Amino acid sequence: MVASAQIARQLYGKNIKVVYIGPCIGAKDEALRFEGDAKVDAVLTFVELRQLFAEFNIKESTVEYSDFDPPLGYKGSLYAVSNGILQAAGLDEDLMQGNVITAEGKDNVLEAIREFESSIDFIRKHFNLFYCEGCLMGPGTSRGGKKYARKTLVTDYANKKLKNFDLKTWEKACKKHSGLTGFKAEFAVDDQRLPQPSEEKVEEILKVIGKQNSEDKLGCGACGYESCRDFAVNVAKGLTKTDMCITYSLKSKHDFIRTLKLTNEKLAKTQEALLESERKARQDQQAAQEALERTSSMLQKLPSAVVIVDENLKVIESNQSFINTLGEDAEDFNEIIPGLVGADLKTLLPFQFYKLFSAVLTTNENVVNRDVHLGDRLLNVSLFSIKKGKIAGAVLRDMYLPEVRKEEVIHRVTEVIDENLDLVQKIAFLLGEGAAKTERMLNSIIESHKAGKK
Ligand code: SF4
Repeated sequence: MVASAQIARQLYGKNIKVVYIGPCIGAKDEALRFEGDAKVDAVLTFVELRQLFAEFNIKESTVEYSDFDPPLGYKGSLYAVSNGILQAAGLDEDLMQGNVITAEGKDNVLEAIREFESSIDFIRKHFNLFYCEGCLMGPGTSRGGKKYARKTLVTDYANKKLKNFDLKTWEKACKKHSGLTGFKAEFAVDDQRLPQPSEEKVEEILKVIGKQNSEDKLGCGACGYESCRDFAVNVAKGLTKTDMCITYSLKSKHDFIRTLKLTNEKLAKTQEALLESERKARQDQQAAQEALERTSSMLQKLPSAVVIVDENLKVIESNQSFINTLGEDAEDFNEIIPGLVGADLKTLLPFQFYKLFSAVLTTNENVVNRDVHLGDRLLNVSLFSIKKGKIAGAVLRDMYLPEVRKEEVIHRVTEVIDENLDLVQKIAFLLGEGAAKTERMLNSIIESHKAGKK
């Protein structure tokens, strides 16, 4: 590839673009390593070339035939066949004389390396190794191709081209371009082997993929490893993942489907319960709303003034009597905001009055029957906590209203009578106690006097 790029530039100038088309995706990486005259501007696989043909509607039947430009590859056309490279390079591949062993395919390559390592004393050969199945079946070729049919096509083509091959002209051309440079390669030891994982780690992975029993460890080979153990070792080395094991992956999938099913069932039940609680919450809300409306209408009908405030002393609810008690300003306000909802109590009542609300909210202690002056009125006020620290309410009665005054007088007189009665009862009790004691003492004196007379 790189030599062709250099020759193309020698023949057609430095400003040309070089595109390499081949069966190997490895060439895409190789091309990145060269610059200058050796630069390959793009690498296409045969699959990509076919896609381009399809995209631009290029068909063999509609284009003019043109052969390769010289210098031709000569036996290089056999390069695609695994040992064709030996012929192209003029190396002897005779089994008796040859010094090169060719192996292709992952299993054969690994086997060749293992054997070379174990029998290094007598396998004194070069190895021509293709981890893939050779260029004929390279990853850049179309899927489903037949290896031996392709091999036949390649060798037939090479035979045809070499039949009347002008060797002299070819040698002359080779000589002309023999000054190419940049193909020298040096190799240094760079051990890429990963440390062998511990037996515990391997066993742990075998357990994860469900292959802990010895009869399970032979495996199906679907992961590309010879055995499940081999696979586990490579998982431990970080070279593959447990998901690559087909049986584990299927089991995980089944487990996942089962879990998904269970989760779905749970979800359906939760959804049902949620709907039920939503239904109940709606009923409760409706009941609460009805209760609120009932309370509200009862509140409005009360002759006493009632106000309910939140922790910021904002009115939550108040009745008409409360608005009437506050006077004209509050009545005007009520026309804009019915019930004074949201109004600030601090703007409606004097300081010493609304402070009572703050005290109830802070201490949570009720204030009962407190007389408070509001302008020229005397109000009897009872404040109570409805929700600790959050909501407080108050009942106000205008003491100057005749019916209230009468009721209050009766109430207070009753209170006084009750207190007096209580006091009288206590005195009577004490008096009773004293009389009984005196009687007991007198009786004992009489008794002792009688005894003295005798
Ligand atoms: S795919 Fe799984 S079961 Fe088959 S050999 Fe690999 S590790 Fe073993």
